[in-house]
Amino acid sequence: MNHLVIIGCGIIGATLAYELSLIEGLKITVVDKQPPAQAATGAALGVMMGIISHKVKGKAWRMRQTSIQRYETLIPELEAITKQRIPFNRQGILMLLPSPQVTTDDLASWKKLQETRHNQGWQLEILDVAQLNKICPQIDVISQKYIGAIHSPQDRQLDPTALTLALVEAATHNGVNFKFGVQALGLNSSSQLETTDGVITGDKFIIAAGLGSSALTAQLNQKVDIRPVLGQAIHLRLGHPLGNCEFQPAITCNDIYVVPCDAGVCSATDYWVGATVEFSQDGGEISADKQLLDATLKSAIATCPELANASIIRTWSGLRPRPENRPAPVIEKLPGYDNVILASAHYRNGVLLAPATAEMVKEMIL
Ligand SMILES: Cc1cc2nc3c(=O)[nH]c(=O)nc-3n(C[C@H](O)[C@H](O)[C@H](O)COP(=O)(O)OP(=O)(O)OC[C@H]3O[C@@H](n4cnc5c(N)ncnc54)[C@H](O)[C@@H]3O)c2cc1C
Repeated sequence: MNHLVIIGCGIIGATLAYELSLIEGLKITVVDKQPPAQAATGAALGVMMGIISHKVKGKAWRMRQTSIQRYETLIPELEAITKQRIPFNRQGILMLLPSPQVTTDDLASWKKLQETRHNQGWQLEILDVAQLNKICPQIDVISQKYIGAIHSPQDRQLDPTALTLALVEAATHNGVNFKFGVQALGLNSSSQLETTDGVITGDKFIIAAGLGSSALTAQLNQKVDIRPVLGQAIHLRLGHPLGNCEFQPAITCNDIYVVPCDAGVCSATDYWVGATVEFSQDGGEISADKQLLDATLKSAIATCPELANASIIRTWSGLRPRPENRPAPVIEKLPGYDNVILASAHYRNGVLLAPATAEMVKEMIL
């Protein structure tokens, strides 16, 4: 039997574990130095910018399309196994087009994207301000100037922690062995992984350790440089839904998101707002900049003024794994190692790209 060892149990490691557990005849072990869904995954907002992204061809588009399609079957599949609901927002993403940042030329490029998506079998709706005001009365279209909005009804948002925990439970059900609190120290030969819990012998190793992947590849003299980009977010409690309770998409404007919590499970009373994008100035550690978080909240309130009445339940930050000098993500066999696969560095789109990552890794393994 082929023994696969996965290092890391964020959204990527957990999705790999579940999807690969569906293949007959594989023995799978997952190690993580923490419990599941900590690190970047525990901080993510779970917004999946697939159809609404400007990627129209090549690997970047294929991965988005594969993931969006797979999530439609994956969520009910996991809910049936775990008998738990996973917050999964099926009301799409609403992107506001603020003026003067977005011009009529940009609107022309949205029309072109709408046509491309139509030909690819997907939908995008372009709304004028009157239509926007009608479907989302929570948005202040009087003091803020918009030239319109894009509604992408087939894009989704989900709770990344709930999903990761469901994947772990379903994979366990399929026989995957999870070892939490166990740190991978390094591969000491091509088939042995040294850990804080002893040596694990495997046939293939998948490094899905996010920011921890760099050290593991460096130890094999094939360093893939993955650096942190900090993101901060806020959990707000309003006590009732913003605008129309029947239409609660994830809203984005100027790269700031207002995300209804527990979508599809219960009526929204709480919202996540985020996220900042903070780089290290000198290549060293990044500390969260409170002013940037304040500006994010201010901007969300300018978009949806009622949020000024909400109370802050918590704020948090996380580190996104971003590859240096190359596009995200990095999914490939580690050069010189036929049995080591890297599935890391998903930067801002790990939740979106997790199912497509599993598909690519599956092809490499089979
Ligand atoms: C504020 C914020 C908002 C975000 N919003 C979105 C969003 O809306 N949509 C989206 O798609 N993405 C979003 N992201 C990005 C997303 O969170 C990441 O791309 C994704 O979580 C990466 O998943 P991962 O499993 O590769 O890494 P991680 O979640 O970081 O998991 C890596 C795991 O590896 C473990 N590990 C590391 N080293 C070792 C070792 N040596 N031994 C054992 N275990 C190890 C860690 O403990 C950790 O559990 C956001 C990120 C942040 C910070």
